[in-house]
Amino acid sequence: MSSEAATPASPRLVVGIDLGTTNSLAAIRAGKGARVLRDADGEPLIPSVVCFHPDGRTLVGREAKAERLTHPDRTVFSIKRLIGRSVHELGDEPKRLPYPIVAGERDLPRVRVGERQWSPEEISALILQRVKQTAEQALGQPVQHAVVTVPAWFDDAQRQATKDAAALAGLDCLRILNEPTAAALAYGIDGSKDGTALVYDLGGGTFDVSILRIDDGVFRVLSTSGDTHLGGDDFDELLGQRILAALPRVAGKAGALEDPYVLQAVRKAAESLKIKLSSAERADLQLDLGARGAVTLTVTRAEFEAAIAPLVQRTLDCVQRAVKDAGLRLEQIDDVVLVGGSTRVPMVRARLRGMLGKEPHTGVDPDLAVALGASIQADVLAGNDRSLLPLDVIPLSLGIETLGGAVQKLILRNSTIPTSVTEEFSTGVDNQTAVDLNVFQGERELAKDCRRLGHFKLRGIPPLPAGLPRIAVTFLVDADGVLRVTAREQRTGAEASIQIVPSFGLTRDEVRRMMLDSIENAQADYVAREAIDVRNKAEAMVRGTQKALALAELPPDQTYAVQKAVKALGKLLAANADAAALKQGCDDLTKVTATIADDVISAAVAKALREEQQGS
Ligand code: ADP
Ligand code: MG
Repeated sequence: MSSEAATPASPRLVVGIDLGTTNSLAAIRAGKGARVLRDADGEPLIPSVVCFHPDGRTLVGREAKAERLTHPDRTVFSIKRLIGRSVHELGDEPKRLPYPIVAGERDLPRVRVGERQWSPEEISALILQRVKQTAEQALGQPVQHAVVTVPAWFDDAQRQATKDAAALAGLDCLRILNEPTAAALAYGIDGSKDGTALVYDLGGGTFDVSILRIDDGVFRVLSTSGDTHLGGDDFDELLGQRILAALPRVAGKAGALEDPYVLQAVRKAAESLKIKLSSAERADLQLDLGARGAVTLTVTRAEFEAAIAPLVQRTLDCVQRAVKDAGLRLEQIDDVVLVGGSTRVPMVRARLRGMLGKEPHTGVDPDLAVALGASIQADVLAGNDRSLLPLDVIPLSLGIETLGGAVQKLILRNSTIPTSVTEEFSTGVDNQTAVDLNVFQGERELAKDCRRLGHFKLRGIPPLPAGLPRIAVTFLVDADGVLRVTAREQRTGAEASIQIVPSFGLTRDEVRRMMLDSIENAQADYVAREAIDVRNKAEAMVRGTQKALALAELPPDQTYAVQKAVKALGKLLAANADAAALKQGCDDLTKVTATIADDVISAAVAKALREEQQGS
């Protein structure tokens, strides 16, 4: 028998990280709440920007963002757009970015800075490293484990590349979590209630909308839609145009539009105007660019809203599409969750509310929600949270029924998925050519106290003495929580399998009740299980000894003595004697066979017994 350990020892400190296109940050669960980890200035958001300054310094975060226009070819932002993709897949993305992107080996994109080329994983690792340092300073202890979020539509390669980036940053990424799932978790949508949620995520440069279905604690992404080039940066751009239009041209100077210092200042001013307009009806700007000119400007919220209205409408079109793709109607959305800094714009909220006829959740800061949700998942992986039905772990043990109605567990509860375990079984009767496999879920020892998930039959086993066929039974739970049980006879290759979704039809309360049951009944279960084991052993001894008697040529008196003891044990079995009596019967039989001073029978019995005991 072989069995892999499925659950590693759980690390105690695990942070949640939102590795964003525009901003990144970490959060940690503390008691019932979760909190973001801020830098020394109290800032939670770290701009996802890296600048390889000509003076040799590598700047990350706010300092790097400040260089975006002064060193456009050495300041890398939006690296999330490139990670895990080939140059071919990027399409015209590189043309939109001011830093040079070249094709490296296997057509993977690389950012060229001077002599050196950087992979998107390396750039992301620099950002993650900064996030890690910030978290360590805030917590006062080393951080090694994390849950990192990605958009729901990220494919395997993009997810793997994100994991690689974490590893490069010295972080063990325990789980990649979908951003919309994380956001839903942050809003307390923890799977305890079934329903549908719409997650509307408007960040700096990207817009994502996802429809989630929550079924018995399992989050499924039903559909996604969005626009990879739509976000708060576009709002800034529109305001920036107004500022530039108001900037008087200084005679004899190059156009302000080509001056990176002017553009940088204008972009910054535009963003701060926009942010003011989220809480005020009007915002003033006084921008003094010295010799390059000065602007005084007032923008009202109404003007701003008129400018961005077409962009907001585009997001609503995506919402329509996502809901339709999920096979739902707008009224069937139970919860609306806002994510991304740009959902702070009041018009965005108002338009969404108008369309869905429902108040969006607003209790959590939209630019912190993903990290906060990731920290909740992180806490579950750290093993600190016992109240929440963990996502992506197996809530109850899975096993098969063995001889006598006991359950042999192959995958233990709380194993993280995906996971796979194989164990070997055999037949219990001679010349048996088929076995029934009953798959059970639960913590109790006996099949009758567990939940039967399914049943299948393996045929085509070669007719052999009991215990000789070798049947490998594999339990495989994939990342979606789907269980596949396969039985394969090793000699003939005969195979049969069944596929089950174990979490379906089980509520969190049921899981809890089944757990409590197993604790309350532990003693009784132990006794019952022992009784089955003794019974199996007694039956095996009876059969084994009978076989041995037929093989060994014993003197009649000894044959008689053995037969008598076998018969006595057989009677106990037939009378359903209790475990103590059966144990006594087994001991008596052992004594008789042991006292027969004949190596032949001892060897024959031993051999027959060995074969019998392998069976079951
Ligand atoms: P991402 O997920 O792309 O990394 P974020 O969720 O951090 O991005 O959102 C960043 C965007 O949110 C920026 O465009 C920023 O200007 C915008 N933003 C932040 N706060 C506000 C606010 N109060 N009002 C409007 N926009 C805001
Ligand atoms: Mg985001």
